[in-house]
Amino acid sequence: MKIFCVGKNYAAHAKEMNSAVPTSPLIFMKPSTALLPHAKPFFYPDFSNNIHYELELVVKINRHGKSIKKSNALSFIDEISLGIDFTARDIQQECKKKGYPWEIAKSFDYSASIGAFISIDSIDLQNLNFSLLKNQSEVQRANTSDMIFDVATIIEYVSHRFTLQKGDLIYTGTPEGVGPVQKGDHLEGFLSGNKLLDCPIK
Ligand code: MG
Repeated sequence: MKIFCVGKNYAAHAKEMNSAVPTSPLIFMKPSTALLPHAKPFFYPDFSNNIHYELELVVKINRHGKSIKKSNALSFIDEISLGIDFTARDIQQECKKKGYPWEIAKSFDYSASIGAFISIDSIDLQNLNFSLLKNQSEVQRANTSDMIFDVATIIEYVSHRFTLQKGDLIYTGTPEGVGPVQKGDHLEGFLSGNKLLDCPIK
């Protein structure tokens, strides 16, 4: 199982990171060992002092696929959820400064929290409201219509380069409002008003 992530897929988030909006999908990966199962706590790692949450719509690939056309891409998804792309922002900034890869900031153990999955029957993936509460205060809110690259475009782009396999996950990027977590915080993710994600920070 592979985890793909899209960077800077919402213009307002690119702006808050002082980054340009990408002209093609910005893709990075996390290993399967990064997955933090539904409702399990995230243990703050000792190698960072600035772990950020990034709430993202996550789609699950339902079968083997290679060079998938955009027009057929959504048939490769049956289920979606919300996830948190936990990011060691202090380490990411060091990596960026040096021009180094991001893995140690993005792909460490349990850096990919995942919520409960729901069926996409009769759901328009590009018109979904989602939001994140931290300690019961809303810190992120967005609609998937604000994605720069929609889900079908992402699947076409990724599958042209990497064979997709059943169970692969794609984290489709975070909207604005990213910020730090601390031990004792409680994160809850909502999709169309339904709570799908629960992640205490310990
Ligand atoms: Mg992200």
